[in-house]
Amino acid sequence: MEFSKVCSTFESLEGTSSRLEKTDILAKLLREADRDDLPLLVRLMLGKVLPSWKTEKIGVGEKLLVKAVSDISGVSEKEIIGYLKDTGDIGLSVERAMRNKKQMMFSFESLSLDGVYEALVKLSSMEGKRSQEKKLKVLAGLLTNATPLESRYISRIVVETMRTGVAEGTVRDAIANTFGVQPEMIEKAFMLSNDMGLVSQKAFDGIEALSGIRLQLFRPIKMMSAQKVSSPADGLKIAGRPCALEYKYDGFRMQIHKDGDKVEIFTRRLENVTGQFKDVVEAITRCVRGQCIIEGETIGIGEDGRWLPFQNISRRIKRKYNIDEIIQRIPVMTNLFDILYLDGDTLIELPFIERRRALESIVEPDDEKISLSKMILANDETEVESFFTESIKKGNEGLMIKNLKSPYVPGLRVGNMLKLKSVLESLDCIITGAEWGTGRRAHYMGTFYIAILDENGVPVNIGKVATGITDEMLETLTNDLRPLIVREEGTYIHLRPEIVIEVAYEEIQRSPTYESGFALRFPRLIRVREDKGQEDADTIERVFDIFEEDGAY
Ligand code: AMP
Repeated sequence: MEFSKVCSTFESLEGTSSRLEKTDILAKLLREADRDDLPLLVRLMLGKVLPSWKTEKIGVGEKLLVKAVSDISGVSEKEIIGYLKDTGDIGLSVERAMRNKKQMMFSFESLSLDGVYEALVKLSSMEGKRSQEKKLKVLAGLLTNATPLESRYISRIVVETMRTGVAEGTVRDAIANTFGVQPEMIEKAFMLSNDMGLVSQKAFDGIEALSGIRLQLFRPIKMMSAQKVSSPADGLKIAGRPCALEYKYDGFRMQIHKDGDKVEIFTRRLENVTGQFKDVVEAITRCVRGQCIIEGETIGIGEDGRWLPFQNISRRIKRKYNIDEIIQRIPVMTNLFDILYLDGDTLIELPFIERRRALESIVEPDDEKISLSKMILANDETEVESFFTESIKKGNEGLMIKNLKSPYVPGLRVGNMLKLKSVLESLDCIITGAEWGTGRRAHYMGTFYIAILDENGVPVNIGKVATGITDEMLETLTNDLRPLIVREEGTYIHLRPEIVIEVAYEEIQRSPTYESGFALRFPRLIRVREDKGQEDADTIERVFDIFEEDGAY
């Protein structure tokens, strides 16, 4: 497929906010695509280049891109950065530079989707010494043959800020329309494979191929999210009676894939952290039988045997060297609570209580390293309240309340699994910008602009937070955010929206100041959510619900 066709489709997508129109535009493009083009095309629609199980990154920053564009257009880097300040968008800035090109090109080959993909894969495979130089060459090669419109999208693709404003549901419907299958079938295949590109290709092949998609060991799938409830009564109402109550451990979630001695561990962001958790691998191999995909919450254990809060083990997720030392220093324990796959059978459609029994049948807990999450069945509010108190006393965050009959629904925040926490109201927000601090904190970022996700999964700001941050947190946050700096304007720092923080607040108010139309009153930072990615942040829908519940109308 001609790359220009893909770009003009993306351009028309930008021109509409109607979901139906977007679906039609996408379906038209899919209809014209060859089978081999489908996976990449679909991933690009969702703003991604590589399948989500791959760990490689394209690894091109705006700086490198601006240099490449300047080299081939003859427009100075300073001018391009000026365009960036005007437009706030790397794609539009590069496009403008390419339109103002001062150098004539003598040979020009039109780009194909295949050709662009090949260059992108090359970029993602370049690492280490002199890789920036090599990347510059590949980029220049791509851009030389690009029209100004194509350069807009190439730029957004390589710096991985595609933000097409297209939600997964829209792509699902477009694939369903194109190949004449029910959207539910596409949805199911997507849940099992976590790869919309693969799903589109199977839909092309026919219903049989599509329904043949199965969970696969060592291909992590999105994890089921929990919905927040504010009281035991609400919990019982949604989950039904009797329901299961479990400790809500303050650790981080693992999806563990096991086949004999081979074990791999994935985080909620589907990052592979097997190397950092060799102790968990050893314990799982010892205590869990069969070929399975299971989930659990891993917590840190203090010297006195007490359970440590999340912050303590977050260091273990990041650690890439001296792993044996940190394994000794911060031992962990994994509390298993769900099973998705066992010995060739997919279990996600089984009721929760049957999954739990299957899990119990393959785990031999050793209390020190591997345990089953503490669970009881409850019928009334007093039972919930006393188990909640017991759980908090043990150092947990609260309770999980689970509907006994519910299936495992990957990715969704539906009423199957509920959380009841003791802390104030809080939201998981994405950091989109920051300001440098002043005085003693001048070397650190001080104020953070925070966003939630709109209906299309795009971050929209809801306020800024500058309180509740310890010096240590500030240092870590600044270090983590530094590589995400897109550009600076005065004291304001534009950041790539990747880091999620939990923010407590007093109240949600209507506000014209922020894009979301809402603002948080007295926001304060509780903690960085290393375990969450942009897509796990809270949504405008939830903010709206809380706002309405609080009777603010
Ligand atoms: P939150 O991170 O606040 O959205 O709460 C949901 C998270 O609680 C899950 O993703 C798990 O990481 C964690 N969790 C802790 N204990 C349990 C449990 N017993 N069952 C399920 N999730 C749990």
